[in-house]
Amino acid sequence: MQTFITQQHKDEAVESLKTLIAYPSVLDEEPKDGTPFGQGIQDALEGALELCKRLGMETYIDPDGYYGYAEYGSGEETLAILCHMDVVPAGNEADWDTPPFEAVVKGDSIYGRGTQDDKGPSVAALYALKAVIDSGANFERRIRFIFGSDEENLWRGLDQYNKKEKPATMGFSPDSVFPLTYAEKGLLQVKLHGPKSNQVQVQAGGALNVVPDQAIYSGEYADELQKQLDQQGFEYEKNDDHIRVKGKAIHSKDAPQGTNAVSRLAIGLSSVVSEPALNFIAKEIGEDAKGTQLFGEIHDEDSGSLTFNVAQLKINEDSSEIGIDIRIPVSADKDEIVKSLKTAAAKYHLDYEEFDYLASLYVPKDSDLVQTLLAVYREKTGDQAEPMSSGGATFARTMKNCVAFGAMFPDTQDTMHMPNENMPLKDIYRSMDIFAEAIYRLACQS
Ligand SMILES: [Zn+2]
Repeated sequence: MQTFITQQHKDEAVESLKTLIAYPSVLDEEPKDGTPFGQGIQDALEGALELCKRLGMETYIDPDGYYGYAEYGSGEETLAILCHMDVVPAGNEADWDTPPFEAVVKGDSIYGRGTQDDKGPSVAALYALKAVIDSGANFERRIRFIFGSDEENLWRGLDQYNKKEKPATMGFSPDSVFPLTYAEKGLLQVKLHGPKSNQVQVQAGGALNVVPDQAIYSGEYADELQKQLDQQGFEYEKNDDHIRVKGKAIHSKDAPQGTNAVSRLAIGLSSVVSEPALNFIAKEIGEDAKGTQLFGEIHDEDSGSLTFNVAQLKINEDSSEIGIDIRIPVSADKDEIVKSLKTAAAKYHLDYEEFDYLASLYVPKDSDLVQTLLAVYREKTGDQAEPMSSGGATFARTMKNCVAFGAMFPDTQDTMHMPNENMPLKDIYRSMDIFAEAIYRLACQS
């Protein structure tokens, strides 16, 4: 097996990463014309394409600013590499030891927002291609780097891409962990809208992708609620004017391992006062984060069990609303699940609204793509890890025959979305080495 990467490739990759980190490419909800996601993201997209041009690629930017891509080589068949240049906000800058939008090499790592998610892995893949080009290899497939610009939010960039562009033959997305993810559950986020209430006011829960760790109630039923919570053995904290039901937060994809404070509050309150939204949660779901009562057991070998998270509950004098996050195993039928949920909700006068849906990802383990990428990873690292399935979501699922491949290693600390996000330099270098071999085998030896 040859090594494509030279010291110069490594050094240039780190310098280019610094340039890209300097763009504060965070979603701007009120962007100007031609920049659907704001100037920061636009600049980062243009900066990435500029870099691609320097590396010898042809570039294209969507005139409406939704996406861009860069290509090398020719041929009917395309290997797509799906990256993103947008990042999550820095959060509280006081929690950072270095400025979030100025990449700093400190010790063995490079720090800055986007170093791990996803500018670092993108740069590693770009310089991997550069190294294969420099080796004089003969490309039989076209390589296309696709840069989405709304990955951290609603994927509107890649939606536009798929409307306007032809699908690739195969691809990978370096926005996850090695060795690779061949199955990702379908993601269905739902709002159930119901009647107003003059008896109860509740506003609980937060982001749809998190199991709520607390739910607060204040009102005339506090004493009775307390009795119910005691009876159920649910943990809570009583204050002068409210009761705080406690739970355990975890990502929605792992909902059965969390404790849902909103569900617990609804179970307690529904035995005190009858409200459709409370009754729905208490009777149809309870504490079962697999939604078994609604759907039966939904489970498959490749992707595990369905997960069901009651993430939000709002009841007031105007209306009521339940926000739910459901992760659907790859073999399950989404339409059946929607039908069961609608039918159950209707019994409680709750109307179904599909808030967001991402179809699942599934590329068979014995496919050429999975086998080739797995072999490259195993040969380069000696790690015999198996391909994985996940309840999380990467761009890989936006295209057929595409998997998530790297760039975190099993021993890498996950700092994505956190203060002091960083990528160990050795991860940049070893992922470059793996990506180069993968590009060579998939595009030069077909
Ligand atoms: Zn990402």
